[in-house]
Amino acid sequence: MNEFSLIDQYFSNCNHTRYPATHSIGDDAAIVTPEFGSSLVMTMDTLIEDVHFPIQTSAKDIAHKALAVNLSDLAAMGAEPAWFLLSISLPEVNHTWLQAFSDALKQQADLYQIQLIGGDTCKGALSITIQATGVVQNRPVLRSGAEVGDQIFVTGQLGLAALGLASIQNKLELESSFDKQCRVSLNCPIPQFKVSRVIRQFATSMIDLSDGLLSDLQHILQQSQCGAELFLDQIPMPKYIVEHKVYDYALNSGDDYELCFTVPQPLIEEMKLLLKVHEIKVFHIGEVMEKGLSLYSDKTRKMKLDIHASKGYNHFG
Ligand code: ADP
Ligand code: MG
Repeated sequence: MNEFSLIDQYFSNCNHTRYPATHSIGDDAAIVTPEFGSSLVMTMDTLIEDVHFPIQTSAKDIAHKALAVNLSDLAAMGAEPAWFLLSISLPEVNHTWLQAFSDALKQQADLYQIQLIGGDTCKGALSITIQATGVVQNRPVLRSGAEVGDQIFVTGQLGLAALGLASIQNKLELESSFDKQCRVSLNCPIPQFKVSRVIRQFATSMIDLSDGLLSDLQHILQQSQCGAELFLDQIPMPKYIVEHKVYDYALNSGDDYELCFTVPQPLIEEMKLLLKVHEIKVFHIGEVMEKGLSLYSDKTRKMKLDIHASKGYNHFG
């Protein structure tokens, strides 16, 4: 099988989008024509075997994660998914693997309505790079817009993925159904478009949590030139973490792909009403302050905790 029939067989089937490309796979490059007045939002993420996923990860999970982490970046900008490019390097042509990868990629792509419009295919160590483009009609949500007094929220439980990884690496043992839940969180993150679509009109800043809450929140704080106070007991995390007091999994570990965002106090009631209509829950975890980053055990601010340990995942750190 040559490269072209491989592309035809496995990578020509993700064609659903609200924004069909003018030209997609088959020419030297793809062409997209954005609607007048819209902006394009672009992101790219690479997954390398043994760096971003353990060697035994299934083709299905790799495809899911490769697309989901890019979609998560688009959700974090308040964008709608439109197109993606896939660069894949494969050690060999394994049809069972490719079919599973292609099926899972299509499943994710169709679910979030993003069209595969081109890419590159070569032989080498297993590595997947996806470049995704989204569309914003109004204003994108940047990291730089948080202001003192804004309230800080996250969209869901933190630490499940890190527990899943630790379990795969035999660093801890979890009860079997919880173990499964953690591994699914690690391998199959869910891009938070449902909530992004509701809160993007209220949010002054937003980031997706790929490296860990404290580390990712610091990006917002640095770019917005402010600080924050967090309340540990308000941060949603699995019971296991609280019972074993292993808060690092929730605070300093990556791969959750929940969103962290800030909202001005006067807009919170309106946001909550709209979230209720859509049956979406978010968690109020802290407040934007002038400077520094403090962690308190609860909202009374009586007990200040140490923010120690790692600063999230950093490839060259
Ligand atoms: P070129 O040699 O001009 O760079 P390629 O031979 O690499 O083109 O690719 C041929 C066509 O197939 C192009 O339209 C390219 O975007 C597309 N393509 C290549 N690899 C993939 C892939 N993994 N997924 C989707 N499209 C791909
Ligand atoms: Mg060419």
